[in-house]
Amino acid sequence: MKGQHKVLIMRCDAYDPDRISGIVREGMEELGVTPSGKILLKPNVVIAHPEVFPHAFTRKEFLEGVIVATKAMAQDAEEIAVGERSGITLPTRYNFRNAGYPKVIRKHRVRTYYFDEEVHVPVEIERDGRLRNELLIPKPVTECDFLINLPKFKAHPWCRLTLSLKNYIGLQDDRHRLLDHNSFLEHKIADLQDVIKSDFIAIDGITAGQKMMLTPTPFSLGAIVMGTNSCAVDTVGCHMVHVDPGDLIHLGYAADRGHGPMDLDEIEVGGDFPLEEVREKTWDFELCMERVDDYFGEESRLSCTVGTFPEKHSPDYCWGGCPGALQEAMHIFRGFDPNVDQEMGKVRYVVGKVDGPLDLEDDERVIFAGNCTSWKGVIDGKNVRIESSYKSSDARNGRKTRSNDMILKTLKTLWRCFRNRSARYIHAEGCTLSVAENVNYLSALGKIGNPNFRPRLLIPVNLAYWQMRAHRLLNRIFG
Ligand code: SF4
Repeated sequence: MKGQHKVLIMRCDAYDPDRISGIVREGMEELGVTPSGKILLKPNVVIAHPEVFPHAFTRKEFLEGVIVATKAMAQDAEEIAVGERSGITLPTRYNFRNAGYPKVIRKHRVRTYYFDEEVHVPVEIERDGRLRNELLIPKPVTECDFLINLPKFKAHPWCRLTLSLKNYIGLQDDRHRLLDHNSFLEHKIADLQDVIKSDFIAIDGITAGQKMMLTPTPFSLGAIVMGTNSCAVDTVGCHMVHVDPGDLIHLGYAADRGHGPMDLDEIEVGGDFPLEEVREKTWDFELCMERVDDYFGEESRLSCTVGTFPEKHSPDYCWGGCPGALQEAMHIFRGFDPNVDQEMGKVRYVVGKVDGPLDLEDDERVIFAGNCTSWKGVIDGKNVRIESSYKSSDARNGRKTRSNDMILKTLKTLWRCFRNRSARYIHAEGCTLSVAENVNYLSALGKIGNPNFRPRLLIPVNLAYWQMRAHRLLNRIFG
């Protein structure tokens, strides 16, 4: 059994494209990898900004190293392309610019696919255990012959770690990506494995990210992890940072569906960086799987009341949805103002089915977050009733998803906040309530400066947005 799946951990302590290309080429040779046909490189650029989000994405030097290695190893290559869809509704081309990708892409004459601009086509899923019968996926992904998966090694507040399996969330545009991004997130990640398999995986673990996925703190891991099976690579990734692979729920689902192993005994671990040595280095690697009602302490003016949740497999918490998005939103605010927790207006975040009084303070405002939230009680002497409108996964049609357009969503949220500007509470509907929506609601109710309106973000983001819309339209007409 051992040897069927091989994973390499290689030392690399600097973002030097030449060194990275040498290591990746060596890895491809040892793993017997020969890229060919239409080759698509899928990095993790969930968000990128040199100052605010410097450790959230696969670095440009890493991408360059892999492009050079791919060109050297490829046979009969028809096309080499880089494709991705960023998170929180930001245009991918905006994040690519921040990540420094266009210069690398131009230098090596490879193609770019911004998945938010591409036509999406349905792909059937047939494996037992699937959540959905089909997923909508960008056409270039369905047409590629050889997928190279380039995740960033990061902790994740919803899923514990984001490695190669989780990197597939960036295959979908927001309209489809946020569907099932709730307590079914782990199922969704496993579904995505049924759509396309990675032919080669190289994880950027030179500087890994701790705790958050958008705003991680850096950890000098000094490693590149390579393999040809996502489950095997992620299993080794778990052991590298003292995570039990059984605690990476989507890994368990993917392994159960036959996508690969999650037992180290079935994996041959090679490379020049022994796993035990990596583990000695990472004993203090920080994860973040804390519930929001524990996460924001007494020193914060944000507090959370968490109730129960509708799905039988996860009644105590919704790990893939609104609560985690709140944590990420607060970390974005902290990136601009480290004292925001103490300086903001008092806000209570209520999520899930909550019974009993909220015991609000006089100056405290309330966000009832998400479609599953319900509460009945009295605020300022008036009866308040928040009703759940939650629909389970099988009641939501994947072909009839609502638009998650950045501008529409922002305007809708801001209009709702404006109309309720003097109200004590607001029901922020959505399932899931995205990080971007959480930012807007927190900004309005907590009276925190909205980072979306900082000129250095506002202008380039909107410019990229209209470019994205124009290219999307052209692709729909001619694609
Ligand atoms: S509304 Fe939010 S918290 Fe409730 S199930 Fe949906 S994503 Fe989870």
